Amino acid sequence: MSDPPAKKPCLGGTKDPSVKIPEVPKGRLILTHIGTLATGDETLGDIDDAAIVIKENVIEWVGETKKLPKELADAADRGTRDCSHILIATAGFINTHHHFYQTITRGVAPANELFGWLTTLYGIWQCMTPSQLKAACQATACELILSGCTLASDHAYVWPNGCRLDDEIAAVLDTGLRFHPVRGSMSLGKSQGGLPPDECVEKEDEIMVECRRLIETYHDTSKFSMLRIALGPCSPFSVTKELMLKSARLAREYEKVLLHTHLAENTNDIDFSLSKYGERPNEFIASVEWDRSDCWFAHGVQLNDADLKVFAERQCGVAHCPSSNLRLASGIAPIRKLLDSNVPVGLACDGSASNDHSNLLSEGRLAMMISRVRDFRQATNEKGTNAVPGDPTALSPKQALYLATVGGARCLNREDELGKVAPGYAADIVGWSDHGDSSTALSLVGCAQDPLSGLLVTSPASVTFSIINGDPVVWDGKFIKVSLAEVIANAKKASKDLLATAGYTQRATN
Ligand SMILES: [Zn+2]
Repeated sequence: MSDPPAKKPCLGGTKDPSVKIPEVPKGRLILTHIGTLATGDETLGDIDDAAIVIKENVIEWVGETKKLPKELADAADRGTRDCSHILIATAGFINTHHHFYQTITRGVAPANELFGWLTTLYGIWQCMTPSQLKAACQATACELILSGCTLASDHAYVWPNGCRLDDEIAAVLDTGLRFHPVRGSMSLGKSQGGLPPDECVEKEDEIMVECRRLIETYHDTSKFSMLRIALGPCSPFSVTKELMLKSARLAREYEKVLLHTHLAENTNDIDFSLSKYGERPNEFIASVEWDRSDCWFAHGVQLNDADLKVFAERQCGVAHCPSSNLRLASGIAPIRKLLDSNVPVGLACDGSASNDHSNLLSEGRLAMMISRVRDFRQATNEKGTNAVPGDPTALSPKQALYLATVGGARCLNREDELGKVAPGYAADIVGWSDHGDSSTALSLVGCAQDPLSGLLVTSPASVTFSIINGDPVVWDGKFIKVSLAEVIANAKKASKDLLATAGYTQRATN
């Protein structure tokens, strides 16, 4: 048998000069006296009065502060930071699905299901410029970081007026966020039986050329990489099967290039595939070679048992987007079943025009809540009680944290380097303080006896610190690398200009 073909090299293209890959910090940084550290590691468990030693961008040591080895304590050349004001710290969260550009079109079509919502917004997004895209992406990255995210994937699939993924990469990396941009695409316009207007779709040959350029220029396969490219034909109802197949084969020419799309989001989505192809989601993905462990899918709300079996056998990932699924009345994904079947499940915000925020911690809270009533039925049985009661054990705070950390790392095939606070893992760590007069401290009142459960059930608005790749990105609630005031002002202007260009002035009246 012949060897498989060698994977093609990356990082050989010409980067846009505005793209700055964050440098790895030198030396040791030590955090001490963290109230409770939820490591996410089965052996380490939760540690009270914890210390963490970070060497460059990697966690070197974790344990009780009183057990911190003297030789490490004496070698903190980047300093030792007292964290006795931190009630709870965890591994940084991983957002597995988003559409950053949508932040400047929030609140549009607030009472529509998916297809009606999309057809309202396509025309607005078509007017977006590169500077508006950058402003939207930077605002989204900041909001995600404040919610505890240290890595986000973004699925960008509209490319009007010269917008490129390079613009997005530059804007996001400047905030310090670890980034997995997905080069999304649409090729099935309305005249070909798809949902998007023809002006919004691209030619498939041009999509492939651009995808290859982006992989070869930016995709970094190294351990603790800050930037990896994935490919993402948008959805079964906006691309051809040929594009799905070509994307899969292109991705597999390279190392660690993953594939991502929307799947089984609502019943219209299922009906589209059944009527056009006669296929359920599991049959559709098999027919285009996407039934593999290098693929993860947004939503999975309408997966049935046959679909679920394939996801489990082939280890396809699911990005669970609870707010978006409720906002668009899509349904509640079978998360408990997926977890019980060992399917990789991560947490996600989905686009900020169908959520409409970018707060991953609050998605964890909502995931817990809606999993508990997924199978609940109002109908009463002959005894006058609920025919199917809710299940308060369906998803616990610890399991919600798992989705946001280890689950996300599994979806992105990075579980050996991300998602835990343990030696050898990337130094992506976030913490929340219950001291002082911040809204975070206010939210955490009453949580000291069980800080981890308290964090998930209260979902405070903002982290107190965020360390990404060993580097503080937020400290004492303030951004280190960007001015949040400027980011907000730029995004507000971008939104105003975009909606003015699109001529969109509607306001919901009921
Ligand atoms: Zn989406």
